[in-house]
Amino acid sequence: MTTTRRDFAKAAAGTLAGLVFVGCDLLAAAPARAQARRREIVVNGTRVKTIDVHAHCAVPAALALQNLKLGGPSLRPDLDMASQVAVRLQAMDEQGIDVQALSINPNWYKADRDLARQICQIQNDKLAEACAAMPERFVAFASVALQHPELAAEQLEHGMKKLGLRGAAIGGNVNGEEISDPKFHPFWARAEQLGAAIFIHPQGDGAPAQLGQRFKGNGYLGNVIGNPLETTIALSHLIFEGTLDRFPGLKIIGAHAGGFLPSYAGRSDFGCPTRPDLCPGGPHGPIKKTPSEYLKQIYYDTMVFNPEGVHHLVAEVGASQLLVGTDFPYPWTKTAIDLILATPGLGDAERAAILGGTAARLLGIKA
Ligand SMILES: [Zn+2]
Repeated sequence: MTTTRRDFAKAAAGTLAGLVFVGCDLLAAAPARAQARRREIVVNGTRVKTIDVHAHCAVPAALALQNLKLGGPSLRPDLDMASQVAVRLQAMDEQGIDVQALSINPNWYKADRDLARQICQIQNDKLAEACAAMPERFVAFASVALQHPELAAEQLEHGMKKLGLRGAAIGGNVNGEEISDPKFHPFWARAEQLGAAIFIHPQGDGAPAQLGQRFKGNGYLGNVIGNPLETTIALSHLIFEGTLDRFPGLKIIGAHAGGFLPSYAGRSDFGCPTRPDLCPGGPHGPIKKTPSEYLKQIYYDTMVFNPEGVHHLVAEVGASQLLVGTDFPYPWTKTAIDLILATPGLGDAERAAILGGTAARLLGIKA
């Protein structure tokens, strides 16, 4: 404990010494000012382009196709890029985020083929437009109709090749089916072939709804526990069903730091030795590596809110697998960048990689 604290203090001091905040002028920001100056992040003298891989948005025209509209705490009006981009840019500027990788949480997995095609097409066109208008500030993940895996593969390819999107955002399950199910192989195969980054975000109709009775009461537990649990289940199946053996080149990004999985990685390794009768192998036979080894080939956002949490992620999966995430516009955090600056035990290169270098490589952003 003492060592950890001393390391933390040392790292924090090193961080402060190595940093210059240019334009971080929040105290002087008055409500009347149109725009705060942009906070620029510098690590040991080098300007770092920071990238937030967990940033939500929504497209009203696509919502209308499902009789939905913006309003309320879930479908927040500031999800709209077209009318609310100034709010978003101001938040990014204040927090020191240079680029957001935009995604839309799937709510179209129950739609039939034609409707799902239409929803995703509108969203992908609008996301591409928003990115083209401000290519220095935004890239985006495609929306895909994963309930129709062949269509989803086509949409991913079209999105990447024709619209400049950088991969796809998908849910942690598809109408109760695990994303490791062989029916989704056409999508995974195309994602691997295209070098697509696939951002996996929990679905409200997964673990949060399935355990709804347990999550009732005070505490927002459906999200606080349910969302990371949903991602934990999804990633565990990709590992244990052999999806990551079958498609070893996949670039998977797990939301919310991969849920609970990297926090308790050791347990994944001890299940099968304890009960081999419950580990007959997946659709491709036994998995090739120790389960926790696969954690080192998955990427994760760093949404764990405290520096020791990020420090632990580094120990379990490696600094090379971590990316900044904010969950914008949901008000979970305004200090995603500071979290990385305060994480103990990181070298300058590791810190810069987490802040944006790794995301730039994954998403094809000029560093
Ligand atoms: Zn989110």
